[in-house]
Order: sequence, then structure tokens, then C-alpha cells
Amino acid sequence: MKVGILGGGLSGLTVASYLEADFEVLEKSSECGGLCRSLVEDGFTFDYGGAHIIYSRNQKMVELMLGILGENCSKGRRNNKIFYKGRFVKYPFENGLADLPKEDNFNCLYHYLNNNYPRPQNFSEWIYYTFGKGIAEKYLIPYNRKIWDTEPEKMSLHWVEGRVPKPPLEDVLKSAIGIPTEGYTHQLHFYYPQRGGIQALINSLEKSVRGEVTKNFEVKSIVAANGSWVVSDSEREKQFDQIVSTIPLFDLIDSLDDVPLQVKQALKNLKYNSLIAVLIGMEGNSLPPYTAVYFPDPELKFHRVGLPGVFSENNAPPGKSSLLAEITTKESDPTWQMDDEDLIDHVVRGLEKCRLIDPGMVCYRKVKRSKYAYVIYDQNYLSNIKIVKDYVEELGIILCGRFAEFEYLNMDACVERGIALAQRLSGSVNRELTLSGPVKDGDRQ
Ligand SMILES: Cc1cc2nc3c(=O)[nH]c(=O)nc-3n(C[C@H](O)[C@H](O)[C@H](O)COP(=O)(O)OP(=O)(O)OC[C@H]3O[C@@H](n4cnc5c(N)ncnc54)[C@H](O)[C@@H]3O)c2cc1C
Repeated sequence: MKVGILGGGLSGLTVASYLEADFEVLEKSSECGGLCRSLVEDGFTFDYGGAHIIYSRNQKMVELMLGILGENCSKGRRNNKIFYKGRFVKYPFENGLADLPKEDNFNCLYHYLNNNYPRPQNFSEWIYYTFGKGIAEKYLIPYNRKIWDTEPEKMSLHWVEGRVPKPPLEDVLKSAIGIPTEGYTHQLHFYYPQRGGIQALINSLEKSVRGEVTKNFEVKSIVAANGSWVVSDSEREKQFDQIVSTIPLFDLIDSLDDVPLQVKQALKNLKYNSLIAVLIGMEGNSLPPYTAVYFPDPELKFHRVGLPGVFSENNAPPGKSSLLAEITTKESDPTWQMDDEDLIDHVVRGLEKCRLIDPGMVCYRKVKRSKYAYVIYDQNYLSNIKIVKDYVEELGIILCGRFAEFEYLNMDACVERGIALAQRLSGSVNRELTLSGPVKDGDRQ
């Protein structure tokens, strides 16, 4: 059996490095990595698919990723802040209430305790129901409106439980009177490559792939022929017995012929956000030691700014520092159409207003765009995705990865699903896995 793995991002490379079968990875770019790509320029390193850290509720996945990185890894502790009314409030917001002006602190606590909202039917209602009006309206609603570029009331609930942790009552009370507590504890400590940004994980993984990885191959057509598949980039043809697609569902469906209208319509109705990453390098190192700052202010286009130099000191040259501002938007939105210089200017002016930077110290600036960044779980998501996935499954094509499965998957889930799939295809479901590939007979330690 020869397997065609479409896409060489984290998911595609994970499947490839664990698959015990003949395969070829087809990647459209000149480098693998997808959203986990890093740009190294003028001594700065930026993860331009958005700031990436390694963490998981599943310790095994963390260990696997650390095993892939080997020595090139450091451990960090989250020091995120939320910029609110000119203050840097501890993250998550409900754990930083004592940093708020007193009236706001009281208002958040009062509404958290006096909260009679009915059982929620959408994401917005869930926020009010879980956190109360104060925390909802001061932070969670405006912030989520920005990151999703969608009204929270238009978003479904199915993904929320487990993804947005509910704070224990005790923590909120402690937080309001200033006793330190930590929320989202599964990402309190994180790991990050010492050198090369998050792409170091990809580069290491790619080295462990014992098969062909063909770059600059953009899958444009997939045709079934005599029990196998012919995949083409319109110049070259490749034949496979099985296809694993890790490329965005939109690209996959576009490559197929005779797709039923109902499937095309359901696909068209699936919503996603694109990402604009504004990369800023600074002379000097006067930035605070925060890992990231969150901005609920609707006047600012960016919702989050990461500080790559805090993830790893090698992400900026000696004596310099850097910031990575993330803006989520849609291709149809005027923000996506904005000129790079105007975007940079907006970010620099915004950060100056927040007293984070002095514009005169900016020495590096660049804008990078990623078309597919966030899956949006709108109210019709579940019915639309079912139609599309049922169709793909009927064809016998296997989906794996964030935009292939069209789910809000982080790296840990991509690795976990990639390994499980490789095991299934290799017929080795119960085999133990080493950190760099499936255990071979006689290879156990
Ligand atoms: C802003 C942001 C921040 C994030 N931060 C974190 C974090 O801190 N921690 C974490 O664990 N996760 C994070 N993630 C999630 C993480 O990036 C993804 O889970 C992971 O990178 C998805 O990998 P993938 O291989 O499934 O998809 P992708 O990375 O999208 O890879 C798909 C690959 O397919 C290729 N491709 C596309 N079309 C074609 C075609 N037609 N033919 C051939 N190849 C094609 C692409 O070039 C790409 O290489 C973040 C994501 C975003 C957007």
C-alpha cells in the first residue's frame, strides 16, 4: 500500500514519521510546517503563524514533543497580562481581579456571585452564565468578539466546555481580594525551542521521516482511477492506494470532481478566520517580562501581542527585543486588504498608546498573513461539517489535522491524532511508541 499524505504541516509530518508503510508527503510550500513556521531574519525569530508554545493536558503529548526537540528546549512559566483601562491585569482575567480599579473589581465579583442567567444556548450566554455580567462585559465578550471576529452569540456551545475552563468559586474570591491564584493551569508552564522558534519542532520531526517529502507540490486535482488515486499539481501525477489529507478541507474539496451541490454549499457555509501577524523588532530591551498581552479594546485591531524574546532569549539579537501582534480577520474584511505599512503603523501607534513601546526604537517590521488560522464554531457548524465529512469519508479519504478536520486543534491534538492514524494504517494500534517513531522489534528500551 502506498499512502499519499497531503500537506507537510505538523499533522502530515507526524503521520509520516509514525507510518509503517510506503508513503509520500506532498507539501505546497518550499518548506514544511504550515502554521508552525518561523521566520529568522536580522537576528530575530518570529513564529509568524502566531505565537506558539508547547503545552497540553495530555502529559504524554508534551513528552513526545519534547522528545522530538531533544536538547533544543527550554521551560517557561506563563506571565500573560490583559491590558485594561491602562493597567496590566493578571491573566486569566478572573484570576486578576485585584489588579482592576476597585469599582470594577467589586462589579465583577458582585455579578459573579449574583448571577441568575438561564441555561446558555450560545457562547455569549455561556460567558454570562459562567462568569457573570462584570467579567463578561469588561473582558470576555469584547476579547472573544475580537479573536473570533464574530459575535459570541452567533457561536455554538459544543466546544466550550473543557476548552474555556470554569474558575472555582474559591479562586475568584481569592483573586478579588488579592490572594494569588492561577487559572488555566494546564498552560501555566510551557516549553519552547531554545533556537529556531516553533519551526525547530517541525525541522526535527521532518528529519525523523523515513520516506519521501516532496515540496513545492500544490495538490490541485485528485481523481479516483481503478481502485487507486491520482493526485496532481497540474504538471506531475502521483498514484496512491490511500489518501490522508491534512490540507484545508476547502483545498481538498476543490481538487475533487463531481462534488454534490449540497456538499459544496455546506463547505461554503463553514467559517474560519485568517491571521495577520505584525512582527516588530526593537532596539534595546525595555519591554516588560510578559509572555503575552491580551487587548479587549475594540479600537485596537490586534487582540494579542506575544513577546518572543521572553519565550527564548535567542529570539532577538543581544540588546534587542521583539513583539508579535496578532490580528484575526477575514479575507473579505477591509483589515485584510490594508496595506502592510498601515498595519504596522496601527500596531506601533497602539502599543505606544499602551506605553509598551517607543516608536523611535523600532528597528525591524514585517507583516505575514496566514489564510487559515482559526475554525469558527458558528451555530450551523455541526450540521455543515457533518455533510462535508460524510462525503469525504464515503470517498475513502482520511482527514487529519486542524483545517483538514476543520476543528480547533492545537499541536498536541494534531500529534495525538496523527500518531493514532499512523498506527491504525500500520496495523499496529497496540504498539508502544518511542519519542521519534514507532518502536521496532528489538528497539525497546
Ligand atoms: C495564532 C495561532 C496560535 C497558535 N498557538 C498554538 C500554541 O501556542 N500551541 C499549540 O499547541 N498550538 C497552537 N496553534 C495551533 C497549531 O498551529 C496547529 O494545531 C497546527 O499547526 C496544525 O497543523 P496541521 O498540520 O494540522 O495544519 P497546517 O499547519 O495548516 O498544515 C497544513 C499544511 O498543508 C499545506 N497545504 C495546504 N494546501 C495544500 C495543497 N493544496 N497541497 C499541498 N499542501 C498544501 C500547507 O502549506 C501546510 O504546510 C496555534 C494556531 C494559531 C493559528
